[in-house]
Amino acid sequence: MNTAARISVRSITKIFALGKESFTALDRVSLDIADNEFVTVVGPSGCGKSTLLNILAGLEQPSEGEALVDGSVVSAPGPERGVIFQQYALFPWLTVRKNVEFGLKTAGVPKAERRERAQHFIELVGLEQFADALPKMLSGGMRQRCAIARAYAVNPSILLMDEPFGALDALTRVKLQDQLLDTWSKEQRTVLFITHDVDEAVYLANRVIVMAARPGRIYDVVDVDLPYPRTEEFRLSTEFAALRNRVWHSVYHQDGTTIANSNHPMPSSTTA
Ligand code: ADP
Ligand code: MG
Repeated sequence: MNTAARISVRSITKIFALGKESFTALDRVSLDIADNEFVTVVGPSGCGKSTLLNILAGLEQPSEGEALVDGSVVSAPGPERGVIFQQYALFPWLTVRKNVEFGLKTAGVPKAERRERAQHFIELVGLEQFADALPKMLSGGMRQRCAIARAYAVNPSILLMDEPFGALDALTRVKLQDQLLDTWSKEQRTVLFITHDVDEAVYLANRVIVMAARPGRIYDVVDVDLPYPRTEEFRLSTEFAALRNRVWHSVYHQDGTTIANSNHPMPSSTTA
């Protein structure tokens, strides 16, 4: 147990009422994340990944147990936690630039600095030509890049990311993965990143948490004890393949059954 954990999930159970029935979305989940750690979470659909993230974001309350950030129980959202959702959440009446500036304005950042910071992150996600466009004029992937720029702009020390790159094309996804790792290694950030992509989970993480469903729980923890910066060479290495296969097995062959998944083919090499 790391006493200096930035994020501490202590035996959290979350039960949703479904009519007369109740559904256990999380069953005694415990997890500590150290300062500057990059933790990814993978698992089949419905295993409680988003529920866990929403609790850490302060948007849902656990039924039992508690979530702590910097030693304080989480009860509401806070400026030190930036959240990026699976579904981009933009203000439809504001341009890309105004959306990205929004959090900075709320934080009282002066206008000139706001402009500059917004411009930096708009360029980072490759939306400079659309800075004055409204969200309805953008594709889904572009809207998500705008949501990412908006979250990065306020520079939160904790990033809670729920399948942020899931809707993006492969090239943009790789670019944003590398850019996220770059920012993470330069600035002090603690990241909890949910994905359904096993390669992405291993590529980014210090540690991969594999969850299982019914009830939602931690099924396996895989340390990715390999150095950064992670490069294309790393993606093609045997160490990467071995870890990827191990995580793949944990996700798709839980309890000896094969979980159907339409998004990804099996890895070509299954020797770990
Ligand atoms: P994941 O993100 O891993 O796909 P979720 O955390 O979204 O899973 O959901 C876990 C389970 O809890 C699912 O079965 C889902 O239907 C259920 N669930 C999530 N939110 C609610 C809610 N507000 N009310 C009832 N059931 C919910
Ligand atoms: Mg989810």
